[in-house]
Amino acid sequence: MVETEVSGRIRWHIQGAAEGPLLVLFAGIHGNEPAGIRAIDGLAEELMARSEEFLGTLYVITGNQRALELGVRYIDTDLNRLWERVDVDAPEGVGIASDAQDTSGVQDSSDVQGASDVQIYGTSEPSEPSEYIETREIRQTLDEILQRHANTASDIVFSDLHTTSSESCAFLLINDTLENRRMAKKFPLPQILGIEENIHGTLLSYINNLGYKSIGFEAGAHDSEASVSRTRAFLKLLLHNSGILLLSEVEKRVEEARLEVYETVPADYYEIKHHQYVDDPCTFRMKPGFENFDSVSAGQLLAEENGEAVTAPMKGRIFMPLYQEKGHDGFLIIRKVPPFWIGLSAYLRGNFTHSFLRRLPGVSVAGPRSLLVDLGVARYFVKDIFHLLGYRVTRRDESTLICHRR
Ligand SMILES: [Zn+2]
Repeated sequence: MVETEVSGRIRWHIQGAAEGPLLVLFAGIHGNEPAGIRAIDGLAEELMARSEEFLGTLYVITGNQRALELGVRYIDTDLNRLWERVDVDAPEGVGIASDAQDTSGVQDSSDVQGASDVQIYGTSEPSEPSEYIETREIRQTLDEILQRHANTASDIVFSDLHTTSSESCAFLLINDTLENRRMAKKFPLPQILGIEENIHGTLLSYINNLGYKSIGFEAGAHDSEASVSRTRAFLKLLLHNSGILLLSEVEKRVEEARLEVYETVPADYYEIKHHQYVDDPCTFRMKPGFENFDSVSAGQLLAEENGEAVTAPMKGRIFMPLYQEKGHDGFLIIRKVPPFWIGLSAYLRGNFTHSFLRRLPGVSVAGPRSLLVDLGVARYFVKDIFHLLGYRVTRRDESTLICHRR
């Protein structure tokens, strides 16, 4: 059974013959990234022809419609940086909270909040940013889909399709939860953990906070044809790995080859060690020629900002260097996570509890899922320990960390 129109936001959807998992795809959350849309629409016919084989449901949701029409990243503000302001408890999907709060209710004063350049308006103001309207519409669509399937779907997976302004191999971005890791591990791709600590308010963090698995896929450069074919391959593998459309062993190998994994970038876990936040992207000039995952050494000149040199604060691999004049993330530096820590953290998360941690010296309760850590008391390795135990860690001020359970 194939239905093409449910609401304007749903590009198309396939309801399989049998109940099974629910997969929801987002494409074009950034309006200058049409590769995801092209890949999805290019696959529509082939997948619809195979709808009898579907065990479950696939929805495709269009991201920033107004920005896509103009081919720009966004109109007023980045649609992938404002979801921390979405009030999950607001009725009728009205949506934007009256203050920049994260879903834990803890005020987050982190200086890397990418969406801080827009005033928060009441939802009926005529000057409301275009992306607030987009957010409300997307949220309403999500609510409708979840209402329809949350009780019957055997599993629920979300994925968001993107491309980068620099040349890049394909990779996955995940919020660091065990469930996300298990899902992402099925792809032969490099995986970046913990993006939510550095880049706030992404759609996938919002979905994670609702309690669902979510995987971000970055295909490569915005205008590269390879980005379209890699996205197609990723989508077929995602359908297979989520159990909705099973591929033969040969098909699977063919699609994996189409991902074009770089030999120089092993399919390991990487974590973000540094985030270069940019106040005004018009004054920021990345040195030309950096590709995602290129190795950099400490002190290496990477960019200029207001005419001053910006150097690498540590060695590692450069990640998402900014080669466009929109966005506030200049670059990140990532490093491989040793496999030992990955295993240990999975073990610890199964064996420690929130209630145990809150009794430790210097730790107090901030909310149902979050703790405050006084660094004057708990000095050593605090961030690493809470990371291992599955918490997202942000800094509130000089001496306090907020640790939010994922
Ligand atoms: Zn994007």
